[in-house]
Amino acid sequence: MGLANDKSIAWGIARALADAGAQLAFSYQGDALKKRVDPLAAQLGSDIVLPCDVADSASIDSLFESLKTRWDSLDFVVHAIGFSDKSELRGRYVDTSRDNFMMTMDISVYSFTAVMQRAEKMMTNGGAALTMTYYGAERIMPHYNVMGVAKAALESSVRYLAEDLGKDGIRVNAISAGPIKTLAASGIGDFRYIMKWNEYNSPLRRNVTIDDVGKSALYLLSDLGSGVTGETHHVDAGYHVVGMKAVDAPDM
Ligand code: NAD
Repeated sequence: MGLANDKSIAWGIARALADAGAQLAFSYQGDALKKRVDPLAAQLGSDIVLPCDVADSASIDSLFESLKTRWDSLDFVVHAIGFSDKSELRGRYVDTSRDNFMMTMDISVYSFTAVMQRAEKMMTNGGAALTMTYYGAERIMPHYNVMGVAKAALESSVRYLAEDLGKDGIRVNAISAGPIKTLAASGIGDFRYIMKWNEYNSPLRRNVTIDDVGKSALYLLSDLGSGVTGETHHVDAGYHVVGMKAVDAPDM
């Protein structure tokens, strides 16, 4: 869930999973994205491409109803969805409107729980779920604002979901990815600056790619990650362990 185009983090994850032999189904939001998602799914041998707007419970229900007509059970779910009004992803967090706060929390946080309510019923042999978060949940990042607050809530819900679903052998984790140029990221103010800063100051002195994220997703979603749940795993070239600007980092 969350494939928009070939720059999407969901695409890096889907490719890594398909390479490892997974059978995949995709959901897309709105008719405009269907024409992009259809050919990408076909590239990975999938003809299961279903609409789902996670702001609408009936739409999530109908996604899982349709999926059940194709598959008896489900091994994993990837939730790579987030949204906020981009006019509030710049300027001050303190100016966040009530409407956008609620909408951001609904689409970027609650939707993962709503999806797991349905997915749980299809994970009859246990399973794994993965959502996507960002370091702006833990530390202040320029312009990330309400999305940082939402990601903090998302990371917390990963832990609560891990507890509830762990008894049925379902693992729930998050990947905290470093900044990657995607459609969603283009809504964040000064994103090019944030990318440069990460490149200059992360221990690996580079930004991560959707393939880096895909490989870690494969680990968390497959048997390789069988003992891991409730975790927020950083795939950020090590940026989250950095305390100050690197001595060799160029001035910005
Ligand atoms: P993207 O624009 O490719 O993907 C975002 C997806 O969310 C799109 O497919 C969009 O259709 C979907 N979406 C938004 N509202 C929806 C709704 N109501 N119903 C269903 N789908 C909806 O961007 P991305 O960067 O690949 O984002 C994927 C996830 O990764 C997001 O949660 C994002 O916050 C997170 N993330 C991104 C970065 C980054 O730098 N790009 C870093 C860390 C985490």
